[in-house]
Amino acid sequence: VNRRILTTDVASRFAGIVGPQGVVLDPAGMAPYLKDWRGKFLGSAVAVFRPASTAEAASVVRLARGLGLAIVPQGGNTGLAGGAIPDRSTQQIVVAFERMNRIRDLDVVDNVIIAEAGCILRTAQDRAAEAGRLLPVSIASEGSAHIGGIVATNAGGVNVLRYGTTRQLVLGVEVVLPSGEVLDRLTRLRRDNAGYDLKQLFIGCEGTLGLITAASLRLFPRVTQSATALVQVAQLSAVLELFVLLNEQLGDFLSSFELISAHAYRATVAQLGDTQWPFRDGWAVLIELGVSSPACNLQQALEIALEGALEREIALDVVIAQNIAQARALWRVRESLSEGERALGPSIKHDVSVPVSRTVKLIDNAERGLASRFPGVRLNIFGHVGDGNIHLNVIHTTQQAADDPSFDLVAEEGGVSPQSMG
Ligand SMILES: Cc1cc2nc3c(=O)[nH]c(=O)nc-3n(C[C@H](O)[C@H](O)[C@H](O)COP(=O)(O)OP(=O)(O)OC[C@H]3O[C@@H](n4cnc5c(N)ncnc54)[C@H](O)[C@@H]3O)c2cc1C
Repeated sequence: VNRRILTTDVASRFAGIVGPQGVVLDPAGMAPYLKDWRGKFLGSAVAVFRPASTAEAASVVRLARGLGLAIVPQGGNTGLAGGAIPDRSTQQIVVAFERMNRIRDLDVVDNVIIAEAGCILRTAQDRAAEAGRLLPVSIASEGSAHIGGIVATNAGGVNVLRYGTTRQLVLGVEVVLPSGEVLDRLTRLRRDNAGYDLKQLFIGCEGTLGLITAASLRLFPRVTQSATALVQVAQLSAVLELFVLLNEQLGDFLSSFELISAHAYRATVAQLGDTQWPFRDGWAVLIELGVSSPACNLQQALEIALEGALEREIALDVVIAQNIAQARALWRVRESLSEGERALGPSIKHDVSVPVSRTVKLIDNAERGLASRFPGVRLNIFGHVGDGNIHLNVIHTTQQAADDPSFDLVAEEGGVSPQSMG
């Protein structure tokens, strides 16, 4: 395949749309857009364009379409499956959204935030918090991931248990279609039953059906009281007993129920170097409760529920954070698990979902199945057990990568493997 380069004339037509600072043509300037967060995918591109408005993005699409250039949209480039990186054909352009970063509106009556695609998730969260509201998508990459990226990947995170995935939070989208037309469905309606719900096509589409240029997202009351605990469970199967117990007693407040294997937290604590972690062995569950009303004592409610778990020998040990600093220290380890894993070497990542009731069986089968096929194999397991989403990662050799049977195990438990990449 011949490497494509833009003639000076074509480059200046693009520059006429996005301005000189919206065009990146030199290899050094393009390099950060051509390599993913893990350093696993390396692509090449004809050019990178950085539109500053929806109209500019639409004009770029129309011109690229006329020239037969394929488009790879890119947000914060934190995706773990290589979707934001062009291939190596040098036939593609990258459209990056960092200049489209405005928050167009925030309304506390409608409980909505309308943000452009390139707005960093944390910026939107902070703006919501300033207004006394919560934007509940919370992922470890929130300091870099964009609003467009979380919509395009239907991002989950640690609050899915209570608030749902990004799909449940999107009220509307604005999209540049492959034709270059702009589809304006940036509604803030809660009840919109006027025909087809077209926005659903674009949520999770990873840019295949268009460029998301803005989205309106639901807001919730800001959590003013939270309680955090780390539980060492007696054995893996006790995880689901603990989940049922907490759901029965505290289900209205339960926002996170995160499983972390000893292998995963040990690697991360070693990598961080400066953090305290109370357990050396066994499966751990990080639990978070939150409420916006001051009228109940969450800390006490959590203590009572976890005493019950200790009495019933579901839990072996319990640490309840006594202040925000202690809670943050526990969450810091949870949020650094991907980095801890990265330090272990190459891994085959499986970001899979099964019904919550099947999570333990999936992990059991994966551990036994892989150990019998590859003696000494190391698994790095953690995940949002409360919503059935498990990171089932194999620290691998090339042969293990080739023979990886994990997809079959997930299908056996009635699950899906949307992001499984070596
Ligand atoms: C440390 C870490 C933790 C993570 N934790 C989670 C987690 O808990 N849950 C979870 O779901 N994910 C998690 N992720 C991955 C997650 O997919 C991304 O963090 C985020 O959703 C992607 O946003 P982004 O802006 O970086 O998108 P990118 O990586 O830039 O792009 C991701 C995909 O979306 C497409 N895309 C991006 N912007 C647009 C747009 N405006 N229009 C159309 N398509 C677009 C790209 O082409 C690509 O296919 C994590 C990643 C890291 C590094």
